[in-house]
Amino acid sequence: MQLDTIAAISTPMGEGAIAIVRLSGEEAINIAGKLFQGVGEKRLTDVASHTIHYGHLIDPKTNEVIEEVMVSVMKAPKTFTKENVVEINCHGGLVSVNRVLQLVLNAGARLAEPGEFTKRAFLNGRIDLSQAEAVMDLIRAKTDRAMNVALGQMEGRLSKLIQRLRQEILETLAHVEVNIDYPEYDDVEEMTHKLLIEKASYVKKEIEKLLQTSQQGKILREGLSTVIVGRPNVGKSSLLNSLVQENKAIVTDIPGTTRDVIEEYVNVRGVPLRLLDTAGIRETEDIVERIGVERSRQVLKEADLILLVLNYADELTLEDENIFAAVEGMDVIVIVNKTDLPQKINLERVEELAKHHKLVTTSLLEDVGVDELEEAIASLFFAGSIDSGDITYVSNSRHIALLNQALQSIEEALEGVQAGVPIDIVQIDYIKTWELLGEIIGESVHDSLINQLFSQFCLGK
Ligand code: GDP
Ligand code: ZN
Repeated sequence: MQLDTIAAISTPMGEGAIAIVRLSGEEAINIAGKLFQGVGEKRLTDVASHTIHYGHLIDPKTNEVIEEVMVSVMKAPKTFTKENVVEINCHGGLVSVNRVLQLVLNAGARLAEPGEFTKRAFLNGRIDLSQAEAVMDLIRAKTDRAMNVALGQMEGRLSKLIQRLRQEILETLAHVEVNIDYPEYDDVEEMTHKLLIEKASYVKKEIEKLLQTSQQGKILREGLSTVIVGRPNVGKSSLLNSLVQENKAIVTDIPGTTRDVIEEYVNVRGVPLRLLDTAGIRETEDIVERIGVERSRQVLKEADLILLVLNYADELTLEDENIFAAVEGMDVIVIVNKTDLPQKINLERVEELAKHHKLVTTSLLEDVGVDELEEAIASLFFAGSIDSGDITYVSNSRHIALLNQALQSIEEALEGVQAGVPIDIVQIDYIKTWELLGEIIGESVHDSLINQLFSQFCLGK
């Protein structure tokens, strides 16, 4: 299969000091070679694979220097797409990246469709469908930890597990066939019955385990939803800013998703937080104040973590006590802020109110106590049921839906066998389970589904 050479901007739009224009295809190196001028170096077409080169991009029409760049050359087949790949690293900023892209397109590349790079990797047999989707998750991953889940999936952990389950089902069906073919053995019926029950129970249990991880997978992918609450002026905005500054978000949100809250993604010692803030009102973002007690309670209820801020330099008020009441039973970290000022707060009372919670004192102004707060967040997270290591997480909603369907059909199979339904009928449910699991890794998917999936990718991936 000979595909043309495609190109696109493959870094998140807008942000970042560096942007990448990526080319993939037979002509990728030749096209980049027409534009690139290294410093006293060989031509790009002569360099070794998997090397990086510093130089300039020249517009061949005008001989004008367009950009200072670093160019990576990766020759087929050991690349993401299994094709020749060139990555042109240039200065960030829309104007300069677009200029580079334009140059590349003029030199013979075609603008890639959304997801086309990943689609090629899939078409060229480099990755299976669940891995392709994991790439999409990776692009959208907001934090390191989420990134690891996506990476694990890319490495094929989920695929391997699914393949194993499918293999079990297939072997079981094969056994059953053999048994049916040799009915002269007395105990064949009983054996078949036993085998079918045993295997269906096993597959059912494994699917259930996978589904149990899906909620955690979602948290890891989207971040723990974290709401900062407190009276006006206690330092909520300052807290948000300091968490964002010290724990730079890795990827900006995908453009075009308008929501009525601003979300800041931060990574606190490996814990992904999605800090919630109401839109465009940074100065008075106090959620309680803004949206009224009723709705704020609802926002609070949906939160995974509450950061409750109090003012060290002010007396406790009824409002403070009400906030404590509103977050009872939740995961709360209480932050007594402004310790650089003279104390007015009754700390004994605070300790009493916070007796089920972690308590931290800070001076955000002087940057004191933030480390301790981060420690508190991390230990809360890691002490919980969420495991960091070896579990295969399912975090993709298409996978979750298919797993639920597969679970249903294997349960039906199991009930059928137990109720004495004839084997050739029960087999249908086994095969259906096998097919549904196959859809997760793209082994029994229709073309249209594949196209639909890949078109969801961001441009340039
Ligand atoms: P919010 O209304 O709860 O969001 O509070 P802000 O973060 O906007 O802070 C209110 C005021 O308190 C601002 O002038 C901050 O600079 C100040 N502030 C925040 N943290 C501290 C602190 O630790 N010490 C002192 N002295 N001032 C602080
Ligand atoms: Zn504020």
